[in-house]
Amino acid sequence: MAGKSFFIDTTRCTACRGCQIACKNWNQNGASMTKNTGSHQNPPDLDANTYKLVRFSEVEKDGKLAWYFFADQCRHCIDPPCKDAIEGYVSDAVIHDEKTGAVVYNEKTKEANFDEVKGACPYDIPRQAEGGAIVKCTMCLDRVSAGLLPACVKVCPTGTMNFGERDEMLAMANKRLEEVKKKFPDAQLINPDEIRVIYLVVDDPRAYHEFAIASASQGINRKLAMRGMVKPAGRALRAFIPG
Ligand code: SF4
Ligand code: SF4
Repeated sequence: MAGKSFFIDTTRCTACRGCQIACKNWNQNGASMTKNTGSHQNPPDLDANTYKLVRFSEVEKDGKLAWYFFADQCRHCIDPPCKDAIEGYVSDAVIHDEKTGAVVYNEKTKEANFDEVKGACPYDIPRQAEGGAIVKCTMCLDRVSAGLLPACVKVCPTGTMNFGERDEMLAMANKRLEEVKKKFPDAQLINPDEIRVIYLVVDDPRAYHEFAIASASQGINRKLAMRGMVKPAGRALRAFIPG
């Protein structure tokens, strides 16, 4: 399993949201109607026009206020549960690209059950577009196949967003983790062996975003679902299972 990966170093993010806008621009996704919710996070969540969203969280850490930024997007799972959920309804709707590992949906996803697909994703990523197709980040497979960086990586001015060969990204992530741990002992990489978008955070990942990290129980539920014993792990089911 080689292919490509991202390394997202949240310690370098200034929340400029250049990646969010570059993603919209490259994918020709329009603006979403939104309103002021008292947060700089805007729009408030991923949607069919927003494949990448910089999430903002205010937390108290060691008696001080900390502001965490988390550039959320599809993790391009090594073994993607959303693909299983879609293929329960329709074949040929998901490309799992051999060369890069990108997980890319097409229009045929409209024949799948959206709630099941969304519920199968441990990171709460898929969204439904008008007309029914299910959409998300594509790893900019069109750009990457032409030797270019993903648009969100190309535009990042701080070194937060990195992309390349998987072994190089893992080495970069582990090296940076060692450095960051000197100042932030709770620093960690999130699910690095399971996904192609590897985040470095300095605190519990759930302090950044409810769905930043997949729990072990989600994996177990997925196996049961594949054996037809329960529905794919959805939000309601997850709500009863401690992380
Ligand atoms: S890889 Fe491309 S589609 Fe995915 S978040 Fe980055 S810009 Fe958007
Ligand atoms: S993060 Fe979710 S949408 Fe992306 S490949 Fe994994 S299961 Fe599918």
